[in-house]
Amino acid sequence: MSRLNPAESSPLSRRRFFQWTSSLAATLGVVPLLQSTEALAAPAAAVSGEDYYAKLGVEKIINAAGTYTTLTAACMPATVVAAVQKAALHPVRLHDLQVKSGEYLAQRLKCEGALVTSGASGAITLATAACMQAANGNRPVDLPQKAEGLKKQVIVQRAHRYGYDHAIFLTGARITEVVTLDEYKAACAKGDAVMTNFFNAAEEEDGIAATAQIGREEWLRIAHEHNIPCHIDAAADMPPLSNLWKYTGMGFDLVSFSGGKGIRGPQNAGLLLGKKKYTDLAHQNNNPGEGVGRGMKVAKEQIVGMVAAIDWVLSHTEESMQGDYQKRADLIASMVKNVPSVKTETVVPKIANHVPHLLIRFDPAVTGITTSELVNRLRTEQPSIELNPNTGHKPNQGIPSDANTLVVGVWMLQPGEDAIVGRRIRAALTKKA
Ligand SMILES: *Cc1c(COP(=O)(O)O)cnc(C)c1O
Repeated sequence: MSRLNPAESSPLSRRRFFQWTSSLAATLGVVPLLQSTEALAAPAAAVSGEDYYAKLGVEKIINAAGTYTTLTAACMPATVVAAVQKAALHPVRLHDLQVKSGEYLAQRLKCEGALVTSGASGAITLATAACMQAANGNRPVDLPQKAEGLKKQVIVQRAHRYGYDHAIFLTGARITEVVTLDEYKAACAKGDAVMTNFFNAAEEEDGIAATAQIGREEWLRIAHEHNIPCHIDAAADMPPLSNLWKYTGMGFDLVSFSGGKGIRGPQNAGLLLGKKKYTDLAHQNNNPGEGVGRGMKVAKEQIVGMVAAIDWVLSHTEESMQGDYQKRADLIASMVKNVPSVKTETVVPKIANHVPHLLIRFDPAVTGITTSELVNRLRTEQPSIELNPNTGHKPNQGIPSDANTLVVGVWMLQPGEDAIVGRRIRAALTKKA
């Protein structure tokens, strides 16, 4: 492991390092070795217990990408880790915990009903199951095996089709795809729809948004004229904090959030929020019953962790939720800005991942290294760094990248890692192959 030498970093980042270590010490109730440079590279060193990543030979990475599941997304804040540890020490009645956590979350998030799910994907499946049940007489239904004779269409705009359609299909539901407003009205009038699905971030200014013709308000109004409940997938869409109640407030019957992205709860948790009639039905299909949600178990530790993460999130203001992300982006930008051909820019995607991302544009003919060589170099050298997957990509979800642009997602960086990332990118851009 290469170590950060504080003497090499700017006075600013040194000061921030010491501020961070003392606040970590206060939170954990322990005194880390403040002088140790290792604490920067391994911020969790103060927590007791065996390091199973080391034992298993699994490489720890610097996450300069963002809340990607393949990179295990967010790390939980200390208060959430502490709540999870405490919950692990006592058995409870699972049903009791599910009901009480749901009531607490609904109250804090200003909606009628709430359910801790195994993630946003699990929430979408349970939402679909709830709506199939509601549309078919509220009787418990065996999904997907009894879906054949039931009403089971979910209406979706073509531009909102995505990988998470699987979460809908899992129940036995089928998708009716629409493009124009007239097609949407006809699909709603047909009488076979159980739910609509709206992919919130599909409304970004570029990419797929060009083909989406129906906005949220109109989408809701028409479905509700036909008594069809509407689900919106807002998995990655916090911050802003207010999104946690914005969509239920607008009238969406069900809203899904990922627990382990911006909310920083357990990675295998999520939220289904909405009208109690539907969250109650979702609950019936959830574990530990024998329904379609049986395999989407959320353990007591994760339920408590999810609730603690919402408490942590709600202890912030809209402004403090943005953390020092801009400062991190500025620090990295300052470290590469005088490299020949380099231009930097910070962008904040409008909907999903609504936090500053640093774009570093460069000319490979000048730097002597291509985007893919650079990505590879950051990945293989120590410590291994993962950049945002929009690096070298065409514009996507509010990030105007291109073949010669690095995208640095700064929000999942641990304290001190911004300086490491800046130095390593600078070294890669200045050392000709
Ligand atoms: C991440 C994501 C999901 C899945 O969330 P999990 O919590 O990992 O299940 C679903 N939909 C969208 C739009 C996402 O970004």
